[in-house]
Parts: sequence; structure tokens; C-alpha cells
Amino acid sequence: MEGIAGALDGTLDIVAEMLPDDPRHGTENGYNNIKCRCERCRRAHRDYQARYMRRVLEDGSLVNATVEHGSAYRYDVGCRCDACRQAHNLKSRTTKANIRARKKLETESMSDGTNQL
Ligand SMILES: [Zn+2]
Ligand SMILES: [Zn+2]
Repeated sequence: MEGIAGALDGTLDIVAEMLPDDPRHGTENGYNNIKCRCERCRRAHRDYQARYMRRVLEDGSLVNATVEHGSAYRYDVGCRCDACRQAHNLKSRTTKANIRARKKLETESMSDGTNQL
């Protein structure tokens, strides 16, 4: 457990129910069940999620038979086979194209049709 220096950097939220010296701070229990969002509990939650992700990546339980290869999701959960990489590339291309299209739309609706495009 690293120190609680993070609690002093101004990101400390109001502690809902627990006193500052409650031993449940800095635990997944504090974050999930008591809904505390102090820096220590949030860090515990992040650690927990990181551990969880590592575990499911290692045992492959996220990447089960319900997700076909060649999906961006499967790439996201760690597969780097050709099919999944391709799907991922396609998805990020599509996403970028969508963002470009939206930007263009915004630009056009902000100007009165006299833009340089
Ligand atoms: Zn807390
Ligand atoms: Zn794959």
C-alpha cells in the first residue's frame, strides 16, 4: 500500500459515511458498499480493477467463445491476432471518420455557409 499523499492533492471528495480513520478506507468494500469516493478508496478500486483485468486476461475468461476473433472488443481485451488487429484498425478508422464528420458538421452549422470548404 503506498502512502496517502494523493489524499492531500485536492482531489479528496467528501467522505460519505465513514470517519477519516475508518479502517475500511482504501478497500474495495469502502468504495463499492459504502460508496466512499475518497482518494484512498478510489485507488483501492482502481487497483482492484487492474488486478481483475489482469486476472481475466490471463485466464482468458473475458475472451471466451462468445466473442469471435476479428472483433475490436476482442482486441481490447488483449488479443493481437491478425483478425482482431484488423477489426481494431477498422474501428479506430471509423471512429476518427465519425469525429471528422461531426467536426465538419459543427463547423458548417456555426458559419453561415460561407466557409472555405
Ligand atoms: Zn474512503
Ligand atoms: Zn483474435
